Amino acid sequence: MSAIERDVVIIGAGASGLTAATKLRAAGLSVAVLEARDRVGGRLWTNHIDGAMLELGGQWVSPDQTALLATLEELGLDTYSRYREGDSVYVNAEGVRTRFTGDIFPVAESTAAEMERLITLLDELVEQVGVTEPWAHARAKEYDRISWSAWLAEQTDDVEARDNIALFIAAAMLTKPSHSFSLLQALLMAASAGSFTHLVEADFILDKRVVGGLQQVPIKLAEALGDDVHLSSPVRRLEWSEGGVSAEADSVTVNARYAIVAVPPNLYSRIDFQPPLPRLSHQMHQHMSLGLVIKVHAVYETPFWREDGLSATAFSPYELVHEAYDNTNHEDPRGTLVGFVSDERADEVFKLSAEERRERILTSLSHYYGEQALSPVVYYESDWGSEEWTRGAYAASFDLGGLSRYGAMQSTPVGPIFWSTSDLAAEGYQHVDGAIRKGADTAEAIIARHQA
Ligand code: FAD
Repeated sequence: MSAIERDVVIIGAGASGLTAATKLRAAGLSVAVLEARDRVGGRLWTNHIDGAMLELGGQWVSPDQTALLATLEELGLDTYSRYREGDSVYVNAEGVRTRFTGDIFPVAESTAAEMERLITLLDELVEQVGVTEPWAHARAKEYDRISWSAWLAEQTDDVEARDNIALFIAAAMLTKPSHSFSLLQALLMAASAGSFTHLVEADFILDKRVVGGLQQVPIKLAEALGDDVHLSSPVRRLEWSEGGVSAEADSVTVNARYAIVAVPPNLYSRIDFQPPLPRLSHQMHQHMSLGLVIKVHAVYETPFWREDGLSATAFSPYELVHEAYDNTNHEDPRGTLVGFVSDERADEVFKLSAEERRERILTSLSHYYGEQALSPVVYYESDWGSEEWTRGAYAASFDLGGLSRYGAMQSTPVGPIFWSTSDLAAEGYQHVDGAIRKGADTAEAIIARHQA
């Protein structure tokens, strides 16, 4: 096995690791990026399935994601708006489908008022708690002790208002059941997007896509790094001391002054750290886990819903597919729908055969768009839970009580080892924007230490 010497070894060629590598090299440090998969991008993966270009992982860009927007500009990548003309659709607990416009679902007036009251209250809490150090807030422990669902139940007796507000964080963002994470974790999620209101505004949070696919970001970054990116090189062992590191991948060993572990925290324990990490790291990493969501892609000969005056934006906390959108590619005559099946509902349909699961999912889509939704020409489920080098989607969050207990130290380097991923970000947490911010910040921290 060959051994090479570098200033910094970066483990993981996702958006975060590649951003860090790019910045470090620009500052004159030598780098090697070791990537387990035979491709770069990690949770960004633009692929062709049965002739359709699909974004199997991350894809949307929102206006507050300024780090990602700047990277897109630097790389010369163009964006286009998600199709949003026409009515949205909501399905209530009785299965009644209603068309609507705007952000507040077509529910009884009293329920709409409760939803608006809760959104205002949450915006206030989000502002108080902030995005950079939610664990430092005076009431952090209190907010971290109560589950998202229990807190909502304390706020209102209106079950439909509760179910809808829960959806914006649980099924739609953390992709975990609303009883399994805290109010504090929910507030961080909303704060990372600027406000709770932003999560409710589909046209904000799911604003733009990248022409040709978002995976071009890591692909272009990796191209510029050239031979310093090593694919099919899972790092199995990381020896470290205050003086440096030695990262052993299957085909190459990199001896370096510093390491950046740019993988989601649920995968840290796949690396054999020698000597072992400190007790607190061992404990903390066991409280950070990925959610689970199936991203469903259904391509049709035409975007048939548009003729019916529908934008394809659809929500229901009561449907198997809790949200769905028009995901037609730029200048593509075919129409694509994307829908999401989260957490315990995903568990439920994964017990079925592939055929039964497809039927259940398409039936759910037909509740929003009618019978035509039952017959796509291309159908595909992104199943990140089965991906060895990810193991869930979209990203990692703490279990109940974990954020206030461990959050303050989640990014603290251990000797020469630094941590960088969207899962640890403040602004852009769980998103590509956060991956890029974290990569840039980690590079800066290493440069500062190197120059000290
Ligand atoms: P990753 O992309 O996970 O990169 C980590 C890399 O490390 C991977 O390439 C992995 O193979 C590699 N690796 C792991 N272990 C090892 C090892 N031992 N040795 C070497 N390499 C290793 N974000 C948005 O902004 N907008 C969206 O619309 C959006 N939608 C999403 C939809 C889905 C289905 C998913 C899965 C994610 C979505 N996200 C979205 C989230 C976004 O994709 C991620 O937050 C971001 O891409 C994470 O980047 P990262 O570099 O931190 O981690």
